Amino acid sequence: MAFTHDTDMALNTAVALVNSGDDLSTPEDLAAFVVRWQMSGARTGTVAELAAVQAIRPRLREIWYADDGRAVEIVNTLLREADALPQLVRHDGWDWHLHATPSDAALADRLAVEAAMAMVDVIRMGDLDRLRICSADDCDDVLVDLSRNRSRRFCDGGCGNRANVAAYRARRATT
Ligand SMILES: [Zn+2]
Ligand SMILES: [Zn+2]
Repeated sequence: MAFTHDTDMALNTAVALVNSGDDLSTPEDLAAFVVRWQMSGARTGTVAELAAVQAIRPRLREIWYADDGRAVEIVNTLLREADALPQLVRHDGWDWHLHATPSDAALADRLAVEAAMAMVDVIRMGDLDRLRICSADDCDDVLVDLSRNRSRRFCDGGCGNRANVAAYRARRATT
């Protein structure tokens, strides 16, 4: 595995956030997202909190399209805006890992900083090419390829299955 477990988790959370689209439209959607991705810490449950979280989606998405110079700019800006201060913490059965925001920071700041800290690892490892856009023609969801042989091409939304079925039909049609 290229990254630590908490970096993998933060990258997968960032992917889910960037791809959330209409599935993140209400404070209830956000509450479900927070449970699903095991975000600890303070919540307000307000529409303002939702709007702040929605607002970081395009900023994170841009990292998928950025060269390393631009990716570094985005990451450093996200960390600076949220006054990120890395601290080792241990909680809820998780052994020592980094949090760069206090647990009472705004949810949007915590999500942005978690993603940015994970991107720090990706950039330091020279692994920005693991950040990909889904290869399906009609899909621009993002993905992070954590596989050893860097072979992932499709998002989590079922595009890989659809492509396999289409390829199978195409083969059958020619034989
Ligand atoms: Zn933690
Ligand atoms: Zn897709």
